[in-house]
Amino acid sequence: MTKGTASLGKMGKRSVHIRCRRCGHHAYHKRRGVCAHCGFGRMKKLRAYRWAKRH
Ligand SMILES: [Zn+2]
Repeated sequence: MTKGTASLGKMGKRSVHIRCRRCGHHAYHKRRGVCAHCGFGRMKKLRAYRWAKRH
């Protein structure tokens, strides 16, 4: 049982992020109502940073 990082011990307890219905990534924060990936719920436009080039 020494697989992965120790800081990931709380994984699987409860899911913070669910699948985002706009970008499809598993980054939509349930309670905050914002997507960490595309910024859905926080801004109208897609989250876009110069340092994070879209792929
Ligand atoms: Zn999203």
